[in-house]
Amino acid sequence: MAGKSDKEILANSMYEDDPNGNSAPATTKDQESDQRQEVLKATNVTPPSAAPRWGPQNKGAQELASLYSPGKRAQEIICVYTCIGLMIINLILIVRHMRLERISVAIVSALCGIITADFASGLVHWAADTWGSVDLPLIGRNFLRPFREHHLDPTSITRHDFIETNGDNFMVGIPILGYLAHYFYIRSPSEIQLHFGWIAYVFLCSIFVAMTNQIHKWSHTYWGLPRWVLLLQSCHIILPRKHHRIHHVAPHETYFCITTGWLNWPLERIRFWSTFELVIEHFTGLKPRDDDMKWAKKLT
Ligand SMILES: [Zn+2]
Ligand SMILES: [Zn+2]
Repeated sequence: MAGKSDKEILANSMYEDDPNGNSAPATTKDQESDQRQEVLKATNVTPPSAAPRWGPQNKGAQELASLYSPGKRAQEIICVYTCIGLMIINLILIVRHMRLERISVAIVSALCGIITADFASGLVHWAADTWGSVDLPLIGRNFLRPFREHHLDPTSITRHDFIETNGDNFMVGIPILGYLAHYFYIRSPSEIQLHFGWIAYVFLCSIFVAMTNQIHKWSHTYWGLPRWVLLLQSCHIILPRKHHRIHHVAPHETYFCITTGWLNWPLERIRFWSTFELVIEHFTGLKPRDDDMKWAKKLT
C-alpha cells in the first residue's frame, strides 16, 4: 500500500542496492541472509521466511530466464531498429513544423502524453502481474514470462542488454509512431499547425511508452548510472529507484506505473487497482496473482 514503511519494504523485498546480494551466485546467499537478519533484528521486523526468496539463485527465476528463445530475440531486434527509425523520422518532422506560437499548446499536450504513457504502463503491468499464466499459448512465454521473472529476480533486468530490455515496448511504439509519420504525410502544413497539440501528445506518449522498460531498468540500477539519469530520477521526471521499490514488496499489489510513477500515489489513494481486481474476481472467479504466487513458491 501507499503507506508501506521502510521496515516493511526491507522485510519483504530484495536487497537491490547491495552488490553482494545482487548479481552474485548462490555463495552470497548466506551473506545476504545474515545482513537481512541484522537489519530485521535492529528494526524489530519478523521476516516472513528465513530463506531469501529473490535473486538469480531462485529456481523459478532460472527456469523463466531459460525460456528466452532465439525467435523472441529476433522479434525484439526488428522492433528496436524499426522503432528507432520511426522516432528519428517523427522528430525531424516535428522540429521542421515547430512554430513558437504553438509552444505552450505543445508543452501541455506533451505532459498529457507522458501521463497517458504512465497510466498505460500501470495498466499493462497490473494486467500482466495479476492475471494470466506463463502456460498460456503465445502470450505466456513471450510476454508474461518477463513479468514473473522480474518479481523473482528484480535485478535480472539490469543484466539484460538494450534489445532484451526494450524489444517489447519499442514494438508497442511502432504502430503509434507509424500512424504519426503517416499523419504528417497526408496532412497539409496548415492542418499540421492546427493539430500540433495532438501531434505533441501522440509523440511524447509513444516516446515514453517505448522508453518505459529502459526507465524501469534504471530504477533497478544502483551502480554506474549516468549523471543525467540520476538527475531525471531525483527530479521525478522518470521513475525514481526508491519509489519503484514500493512495488517490489510481496505480494506486488500496488505502484504498478513504471514510466514516471506520477499516477501511483493517486491511484493507490482511490484504491483503483484493488477495486478493479475485486470486480474481475466477482465476475470471473479468478484469483488475482495466482500464477505469480505459484512461481514465488518455487524456492531455491
Ligand atoms: Zn510487477
Ligand atoms: Zn521493477
